[in-house]
Amino acid sequence: MPVINSIAAMEEEMTAWRRDFHMHPELAYQETRTAGIVAEKLKSWGIEVKTEIGKTGVVGVIRGAGDGPSIGLRADMDALPMDEHNDTPWKSRTAGVMHACGHDGHTTMLLGAAKYLAETRNFAGTVNVIFQPAEEGFAGAKAMIDDGLFRDFPCDQVYGLHNWPQMPAGSIAAVPGPIMAAADKFDITIRGKGAHGAMPHNGVDPVVIGAQIVTALQSLVSRTTDPIRTAVISVTMFKAGNAYNVIPDHAVLSGTVRTFDGRVQDRIEAGMKSIAEGIATGMGGRAEVDYRRGYPATVNHARETELARSVAAGVVGAENVRQDVEPTMGAEDFSFMLQEKPGCYLWLGGGGGAPSENVHHPQYDFNDAILPIGASVLARLVEDLQPKR
Ligand SMILES: [Zn+2]
Ligand SMILES: [Zn+2]
Repeated sequence: MPVINSIAAMEEEMTAWRRDFHMHPELAYQETRTAGIVAEKLKSWGIEVKTEIGKTGVVGVIRGAGDGPSIGLRADMDALPMDEHNDTPWKSRTAGVMHACGHDGHTTMLLGAAKYLAETRNFAGTVNVIFQPAEEGFAGAKAMIDDGLFRDFPCDQVYGLHNWPQMPAGSIAAVPGPIMAAADKFDITIRGKGAHGAMPHNGVDPVVIGAQIVTALQSLVSRTTDPIRTAVISVTMFKAGNAYNVIPDHAVLSGTVRTFDGRVQDRIEAGMKSIAEGIATGMGGRAEVDYRRGYPATVNHARETELARSVAAGVVGAENVRQDVEPTMGAEDFSFMLQEKPGCYLWLGGGGGAPSENVHHPQYDFNDAILPIGASVLARLVEDLQPKR
């Protein structure tokens, strides 16, 4: 059971949609053109549509034959604030904005699946096709959830798909457990007392306090975190002073924390506060920690991942469903949906489509050859998991 024939027949049409989205990229929460096209197409296929969920999000509801569970399929619509360095006829027409993560392709694949499902309705229950804004750093998934996404469109399971240029086109990875990290930010402000650089005994040196804190923070990874689990703490900025002979009165340390496990994350946040405050106080100063949680870890649910794997194997062949894929320390806001509902976030191999194999690169481009594969996987998730009775 490879790519669905009638979806394969839509390849040219889907490629045209994808390239049109690519030419007209839109930043987080400004996806009005994209959302408008999505809503219009869904309506033209007889799908009920609600717009402006989480500002620019769109949901289409496709009802199958008879009662059954409901499934949510999600795509993201936003682009990145960067210039494109490709020279294709469909390159970005908006300076400083580019679809460099393939969300143009994700939106297109979900549209393709929606069109097929609306025409065939060969499943029981309901499908909610979810087009979200602002995946790139602005938590559009959370905005939709906060705006009543799962209240108004109940979903028993949710699935999302991201193109993965480092994997060969047509391969798929669905890995249970944590696959992408939680990404948090912190600023530690250390207050001391300024003094002449030659007379340190008259002050409290925030640079020396900061240096102790930088070193001690690493013990949160090596001594506080269970060695079987993992974490990264990187102090990426250390700002203090502006003269050779003046001890400044304050210093600021900033950086990022990446974790896969909520308990590890809690312990690091608490430990960072006690280390910074304890060291600063012990040395005669003060420290204030501003710890800001970003996207949570993306954690695939075991049962749904197994289901997704068997569906994917049906489309691309079991030999192309990869088991050997390592998690990445990157982050993804589908994590908010997976906190609410069981589901799986799949990676769809897309290698070979453009000069750059890296997303977020000015010479990246979505590989159109995988459009029918992704759309077929999304459609089969519905038909295989919600068979008509
Ligand atoms: Zn991205
Ligand atoms: Zn992305």
